[in-house]
Amino acid sequence: MIQKSKSFLIILSAPSGGGKSTILTEILKVTEDIDYSVSFTTRAPRGQEQNGIHYHFVDEAEFVKRIDQKDFLEHARVFGNWYGTSISYIQSRLDLSRHVIMDIDVQGAAQISATDIPYIKIFIIPPSMQILRDRLIKRGTDSMEEINKRLGIARDEIKYISHYDYLVVNDELSQAVKEVLAIIRAEENRVARYHNPIEGFMQEEKQ
Ligand code: 5GP
Repeated sequence: MIQKSKSFLIILSAPSGGGKSTILTEILKVTEDIDYSVSFTTRAPRGQEQNGIHYHFVDEAEFVKRIDQKDFLEHARVFGNWYGTSISYIQSRLDLSRHVIMDIDVQGAAQISATDIPYIKIFIIPPSMQILRDRLIKRGTDSMEEINKRLGIARDEIKYISHYDYLVVNDELSQAVKEVLAIIRAEENRVARYHNPIEGFMQEEKQ
């Protein structure tokens, strides 16, 4: 029998306010074979955020210890705080043939290219800079100064688009979710992801 295709990392990056976390939540809701990689961070929890669910909140000493122990697949400093992805968690899920979806910044995504773990990289952006500005204002969580800072960073992040495999324009949420799901399912069917499909197909032929 043809073996099920291998699982892989699904790396999502987007400028702040790009709608990445909403898309991610929707994808986790409608799928059963994808797990979310909870990152480690040194930033303080915001609002309703819970330790172990949204992030593993650790202090700087703990984070540095984890860097030294090579616990992270990638790590980066974003907006003045450290963020990192646990290798052991990812490996444990991939070993169970489950995909792992992660929300990381462009610097972290660039580090993943250097690993031999299979991955796809998807960049999500709103249709325009103006729409991104409007969304950040509407979200109401940041001061105007913070919004301008985030827009400045978005201008830099967008330059990394060519390092990604796919670009999803998040104009309408449900459509963007459909597109990300379509990418994942198409990727599963790449011939290269199957384990010896010809041999698998021929194996059980009766004489
Ligand atoms: P926030 O603090 O607003 O949740 O996230 C800030 C930025 O950090 C976002 O761009 C998010 O994608 C990024 N981020 C979250 N977790 C990780 C991680 O494990 N590694 C890297 N490199 N970036 C991360």
